[in-house]
Amino acid sequence: MVSFKSKRLEQIPPYLFAQINKKKAELIKSGINVIDLGIGDPDLPTPKHIVEKLVEEMNNPANFRYPDYSGCREFREAVADFYRRQYQVELDPETEVLALIGSKEGIAHLIPAMIDPEDFVLIPDPSYSVYRMATLLANGKPHMMPLKEENNFQPVFDDIPEDVLKRAKLMFLNYPGNPTAATVDLPFFQQAVTFAREHQVPIAHDSAYNMVTFDGYKAPSILQVKGAKDIAVEFGSLSKTYNMTGWRIGYVVGNREMLKSLSIVKGNTDTGQFIPIQKAAAFALQSNQTCIATHNLIYQERMEAVLRALQTIGIVANQPKASFFIWASVPKGFTSADFVNRILEQTGVIVTPGTAFGPNGEGYFRISLSVPTQQLNEAIDRIKEKIKL
Ligand SMILES: *Cc1c(COP(=O)(O)O)cnc(C)c1O
Repeated sequence: MVSFKSKRLEQIPPYLFAQINKKKAELIKSGINVIDLGIGDPDLPTPKHIVEKLVEEMNNPANFRYPDYSGCREFREAVADFYRRQYQVELDPETEVLALIGSKEGIAHLIPAMIDPEDFVLIPDPSYSVYRMATLLANGKPHMMPLKEENNFQPVFDDIPEDVLKRAKLMFLNYPGNPTAATVDLPFFQQAVTFAREHQVPIAHDSAYNMVTFDGYKAPSILQVKGAKDIAVEFGSLSKTYNMTGWRIGYVVGNREMLKSLSIVKGNTDTGQFIPIQKAAAFALQSNQTCIATHNLIYQERMEAVLRALQTIGIVANQPKASFFIWASVPKGFTSADFVNRILEQTGVIVTPGTAFGPNGEGYFRISLSVPTQQLNEAIDRIKEKIKL
């Protein structure tokens, strides 16, 4: 019989958001005004000066040709400048910076670049689903590292079984975290790098929310750890920092051997991002940065309003220092799925069950603050009015 699906694909579990989307469609059909707090995608526009730079670059026909595989010079230099400015980390734009078609693309392609079938990849649980799915697509074995609240949502490296560690070829970390909104300080990265060097397991740190921070918190880079470049790379993105999710532009920096391996996969898969987008992204990194503080202030106001509303119905959540997510415990007696369904049915508000990000997300739900303030306030009013626990 003809097959239309590889065995590899059979391993990919059904999309967990599909069930929620089905229910959303049903409720909308029955006339309910559904508010979706599930999506992590900035509602605010890309700042105008960045859009104008894109338009300017679009008027130069030299920019219409195939881009350089590693990214254009301007973009790689802008990323290196950003690392010097933000973290006092020196990067060689030629060998230690690679442009990506969004960091998701680089994360997914790094895995087949680094592992062979049956090798383990160490993955935080809960986490961004791409780490696990791309591992399965590469015929690798995900080993989930539980992130527990009592450990500040940090993995306990000593809990990783010896036999797994021996066959582990890559470890993912993500701070500020999605979905947990957890943050770390440099000593955690020092500990991670020491562990990685001791066990020879390279680290890929996903720093998508590095600039979405509040109250003076400054998220560290893993590359600030001495010797980190020997064993680690860091992924970054323009998506969340400058409201550029649809533009598809990100980067990976650090260990040059890992970047070289990733370049080989990329060179045989894609041909880089459209040059005007790269040049506008370089401009975003190098021009006035006040837009970041402006966006963060908006997220912070939304966050405080949501936390107050949750408190009135008896739900306590930690106030995040970064990211645009609230990661809250479901009330006693509910599973994540039960509680999310109850909110949806009683209020028409969609929040994400913690289990969508891994089994250790059980007991939690995620609220995204990347929705217009007016809609968020409406959701808050409905929750305060209708949810009786
Ligand atoms: C949004 C997000 C990304 C992907 O960002 P892109 O650069 O738009 O691909 C990566 N990791 C995490 C944790 C994210 O939330």
